[in-house]
Amino acid sequence: MNEVTTIGVLGAGTMGAGIAQVAAEAGLEVLLHDPFDGATARARERIGGFLARKVETAQITDAEREAAAARLSAVGTLEELAGADLVIEAIPEDLELKRDAFRRLDAEAAAGTILATNTSSLAVAQIASATKHPGRVVGMHFFNPVPLMALVEVIPGPMTDPAVADSVALLARLLGKTPVLAADTPGFIVNRVQRAYYLEGYRIFDGGLADVATIDDTMRSIGFRLGPFELADLVGTDVNLAAGIAIFEGFFGDPRYRPSLVQRRVADAGRPGRKAGAGYYDYGADGSRGAPWPGLVSRAAEAPRIAALTASQIEARILAAIVNEAASAVADGVASPVAIDTAMRLATNWPDGPLAWGESIGLGSIVRLLDELHAAVPDGRYRVTPLLRFLAGGGRSFLPARG
Ligand code: NAD
Repeated sequence: MNEVTTIGVLGAGTMGAGIAQVAAEAGLEVLLHDPFDGATARARERIGGFLARKVETAQITDAEREAAAARLSAVGTLEELAGADLVIEAIPEDLELKRDAFRRLDAEAAAGTILATNTSSLAVAQIASATKHPGRVVGMHFFNPVPLMALVEVIPGPMTDPAVADSVALLARLLGKTPVLAADTPGFIVNRVQRAYYLEGYRIFDGGLADVATIDDTMRSIGFRLGPFELADLVGTDVNLAAGIAIFEGFFGDPRYRPSLVQRRVADAGRPGRKAGAGYYDYGADGSRGAPWPGLVSRAAEAPRIAALTASQIEARILAAIVNEAASAVADGVASPVAIDTAMRLATNWPDGPLAWGESIGLGSIVRLLDELHAAVPDGRYRVTPLLRFLAGGGRSFLPARG
């Protein structure tokens, strides 16, 4: 595979601009294309602002800022990106849009050019299969905001040439990121395991067992930066629901991933979260969290409330859910246990990796709690991952002992 010195970025939105910036800062020539009027100019402006702040805070010199900005060129057509060593696509999450872009890039690009997608929820294989050379198509999943987030999931599809995945992992390192290899399965690592964090919070709320602020504050009190509802408000309740539906459908309707009615309620009410000042909570002009939205609880639901959970019960249930999901990702061959813990720590700032956390709690107690929940709600959402049960039963662990 050729050395990557020129990178093409398709789509100059939130992610495309961030990727273009880190690539230019790392010394690569960057070609940026977006067909919508003013999009590349806006991206350049944002990147300029970001770099200027780095100069102000003495992270880079003015000469470095100028050199990085000079490495960035906007080009007028998608076809002009095909001269790059690697093209990364960051256009909207729409399969037909992406397949069309890859078909066009594949028709123009030289044989050695790698074509990468930043998709969060589509299968790499679905995109690669639109091309005549699926071996050169790979997932390269960055996290928002790109300049600050250290993780890149590298996702070889079933047809991807292993050397292509190796090149992309090397490129991620050149950009100052930590690459983690993940299989081409719904949600890859991070969005899949994080789904359990949200969903167990929603289920506790839906069951009338705690209110949203109690659930969020409980998770903060054990080291999470944001509780599940606050996090959904930050990501966008609309984006979060769409991602949840994509993963649920990706797993053929497995109840483990079934989205919750409270998600629909907030999204239907046009409360997309912090970006609009209104989601599960109302937000002040300075972004501070206000009161939970009163519409979260329907009048009909006010009558029979089940006994409230204590903070330690809330915490135990949510932790059990994420450990079980991380175990299921290991069992499905998505990534190694170490890679899963690394990815979750880097992408979510969780206080520890889910598997390491599970082992410090005790895998046996997690299995017992999940079994109790499964006995109460036997639709499969709480079924214990067989690998987790096996390891817990034998007193074994997922991870090498910590020194
Ligand atoms: P965005 O809406 O901010 O940007 C998309 C850009 O693509 C826009 O500038 C738009 O003008 C442009 N565009 C639209 N159609 C195009 C086309 N046919 N060809 C070229 N450009 C086109 O979206 P985003 O948040 O940057 O997301 C881009 C991709 O990255 C999506 O696949 C998304 O799932 C993924 N992603 C997003 C995040 C996130 O947190 N925003 C994180 C990881 C991955």
